[in-house]
Amino acid sequence: MIDTLIIGGGISGLTLGHELLRRGRNVVLLERQVSVGGNAMSERIGGYLMEHGPSSLNATAEDPGRLSTRLGLDEKRVFLGPDVKYRYLTKNTQLSGIPIHPLGFFTSSYLSRRGRLAMAGELFKPARQEGHDESVDAFFRRRFGAEFAERVIDPLTGGLFGARSTDLCAEATFPALVDMEQRHSSITAAAFSRRLAGRKMPARQLYSWSGGVGALPRALAAQMNRCIRTGITVRRIEALPWGFRVDAGAAGMIEARSVVLATQPHVAGMLLETIDETAARAALEIPAPPIAVVFLGYRRAQVAHPLHGLGYLTPESEGRLVSGALFPSSMFAGRAPSGHVALAAYVGGSRAPDLALASKNSLIGIARDEFRDLLGATGEPQIAHVKQWPMGLPQTSLGHRERLEAFADAEHALPGLFLTGNYFTGPGVAHCVTRAFDTARRVERHLQSAGAGTSAAGVRQGSELQDAAEG
Ligand SMILES: Cc1cc2nc3c(=O)[nH]c(=O)nc-3n(C[C@H](O)[C@H](O)[C@H](O)COP(=O)(O)OP(=O)(O)OC[C@H]3O[C@@H](n4cnc5c(N)ncnc54)[C@H](O)[C@@H]3O)c2cc1C
Repeated sequence: MIDTLIIGGGISGLTLGHELLRRGRNVVLLERQVSVGGNAMSERIGGYLMEHGPSSLNATAEDPGRLSTRLGLDEKRVFLGPDVKYRYLTKNTQLSGIPIHPLGFFTSSYLSRRGRLAMAGELFKPARQEGHDESVDAFFRRRFGAEFAERVIDPLTGGLFGARSTDLCAEATFPALVDMEQRHSSITAAAFSRRLAGRKMPARQLYSWSGGVGALPRALAAQMNRCIRTGITVRRIEALPWGFRVDAGAAGMIEARSVVLATQPHVAGMLLETIDETAARAALEIPAPPIAVVFLGYRRAQVAHPLHGLGYLTPESEGRLVSGALFPSSMFAGRAPSGHVALAAYVGGSRAPDLALASKNSLIGIARDEFRDLLGATGEPQIAHVKQWPMGLPQTSLGHRERLEAFADAEHALPGLFLTGNYFTGPGVAHCVTRAFDTARRVERHLQSAGAGTSAAGVRQGSELQDAAEG
């Protein structure tokens, strides 16, 4: 008897499966694609390392670091290079470099004097009393002023989430900041006290691995090999008195004591339709507009800009086709051959969903024009690659709190059903890992309360994992 059937082999499903195996559980993970990893795809071509999905993780979250250590990946961790000195934002067809330190926005002229004064005024604003869902735009506009909301937060949400700040729910998207307001009244004051306590600024805390973020799912899968089945699309779930029966297409019908949906929200919505219509509707409502990543490699001499940053973000009001770009070869060593640079442009999201699905050639053309205008990149790129994600990043849009309640209600009504993935607390890999650990603990509690002791097969899988980790 299978303790837990996991549907989806992205970082969420793999992390969860690995954690349950460690606890001696008998796990099967089904993945639709021929290989696992989901969004986390790193590909090395001609000395370049391309990140088709995530390119860095935030080190403030402890769970991914713990996982890296368990997987023996710490020696391969890479941290931001010394070239990362600025965060760039586009203004009037030029990049403004804002130093990465707490007073960066005050010392640069990117925001007008009035805009900077409004930002400083945040220290004296009272906290909002409880009220309706507030958008990210309204939250930052209220606290830091209109210019900050339009010229800093709008490009940030466009770049990080492929979303408009007016669509996102503040509490679901930036829970820590909303909490800081409620606890300390001022976010600025709270941020400075964190800084005094020795914590680094967020932009300084990014890391990856020498093989890219794809190293994480690869290492997880290498230790879980025997319980992963790829090329299997789950079509339907049926609730039984003691567990679930899953129609796994070519793999037939599979029964398990518990089932975890670790897919994208639109797939979770489809699979929930037969067992909980309200949760299915909630999942299907989550927007995830398409995104394209256009990766270009140039000889260093072809690009005039110093590229002293992570990349840049662009406010929608600038009217550009590219919402932001990364400079992977400035971020981490080994992302481009010596004497070359790597650039990645992001197109689509809520601003231009159809554009993300344009032909690869036109997307390459858009990225080349963009880098010529903003970075002085001339001549033919040495390498050009496009990755299109028809369902991009799920957005924590207004009404997300009610959706989360619908998912919690479904888990409560159907003991043994669990949901995990990148549409709960934010799409970042770190959030996915934390949610997956938490879900594994809840699955374990359920199995124990259902009287399912660890089985011989589970214990064997767990000890194989231990051997793989030690080996
Ligand atoms: C372009 C891009 C850039 C990003 N950049 C960053 C970044 O820099 N930093 C960061 O922290 N995060 C970033 N993210 C977000 C992060 O990569 C994702 O949120 C995270 O990897 C999602 O992991 P997941 O396992 O929850 O979902 P997914 O990776 O979507 O995995 C779900 C899996 O379920 C499988 N599946 C679907 N349907 C079925 C079915 N019926 N049967 C079986 N299997 C099924 C899918 O094939 C897939 O493998 C980025 C994402 C994208 C797209």
